[in-house]
Amino acid sequence: KFEIIISGRSNVGKSSIIRELTGKQVKVGKRPGVTLKPTQILLSDMLITDLPGFGFMSGVKDRKQDIVKDQIVRYIENNADRIKIAVIVTDSVSFVDVVERWESRNEIPIDIEIFDFFNELGFDTIIAVNKMDRIKDIHHDERLDAIVEKFGLSSPWKQWNYIIAPTSAKKGDIKSLKGLLRKRLHEEKRDDLF
Ligand code: GDP
Repeated sequence: KFEIIISGRSNVGKSSIIRELTGKQVKVGKRPGVTLKPTQILLSDMLITDLPGFGFMSGVKDRKQDIVKDQIVRYIENNADRIKIAVIVTDSVSFVDVVERWESRNEIPIDIEIFDFFNELGFDTIIAVNKMDRIKDIHHDERLDAIVEKFGLSSPWKQWNYIIAPTSAKKGDIKSLKGLLRKRLHEEKRDDLF
């Protein structure tokens, strides 16, 4: 078995990306942050797992956030041997602000924590920076530079183009992500999947 996990905060466009990637609808009609169980799609012999979205909307208790985080960590630890690729989806518009909010409270932002955790486990990690259609073309590179810096990677972002995939899932543009996945799957001789 070969597994790809997809993780990200609620509302970043995770479901839209998975729909573009697989042609299948996940989380139909569910409110963000409500699903605790990972959702899975089987494409040939490859499992694509949509992890519960973390970091919710107002009205959801902190305690529930911790439960989701524990759930994600437990799932990942239990299945680490078959997880080869991890995709972290971020929102190009709000990511830097959200991270800075956490930093101002002296907390490690959850996306960064997850990125470090995936790397420690040896997953091949891709960061999809979604909703790029909302960033003006002239700000495209500076926004991506600011985002990679928050992940502890030095700018310019272009030197990380084998892990950073700018996408606009709503517009159906996830070709950069497909390209990065295909490259990795080619090494596994599974590049016919996307
Ligand atoms: P999830 O909670 O991460 O699964 O996010 P969804 O896929 O449900 O998307 C959340 C919202 O963001 C929806 O209103 C989507 O239409 C919107 N959205 C998703 N991808 C994009 C994108 O690339 N650009 C823009 N502008 N909106 C997007």
